[in-house]
Amino acid sequence: MKFLTTNFVKCAIKSCDSSADSFPLQYADCQLAQEEQDYNPEFISHILERLDWDAIIKVAADLGNTSLPPTKPEDLDPIMEDNQVILKDLHNLLVETHILEGKMTCRNCGHIYYIKNSIPNFLLPPHLC
Ligand SMILES: [Zn+2]
Repeated sequence: MKFLTTNFVKCAIKSCDSSADSFPLQYADCQLAQEEQDYNPEFISHILERLDWDAIIKVAADLGNTSLPPTKPEDLDPIMEDNQVILKDLHNLLVETHILEGKMTCRNCGHIYYIKNSIPNFLLPPHLC
């Protein structure tokens, strides 16, 4: 799964819904891969507005990347030359970085979800549904 997806998934257990600790999940034992994708600065600039930047920073740190700015880069006009370095960096992180294998743990209930062959599995055993 793309790194970007980590900003849109949280614990699937109902009782965790109201907990701030159920997002983002904690990532561990992850195997990463870079997969080249078409660079689309408009997409990156647009999606950035919808991202929870604190969650991006936390997950990046789980994966060993502590180089992100502490506050979300704002108003990145995708046609401005000055913005291309940061937009390309974000493209590289959000779209081209894939988590192939790993586990995601809910900080609230401790449930572990697994990523296999780049696919996160959020199915719960019957007693937790
Ligand atoms: Zn949970």
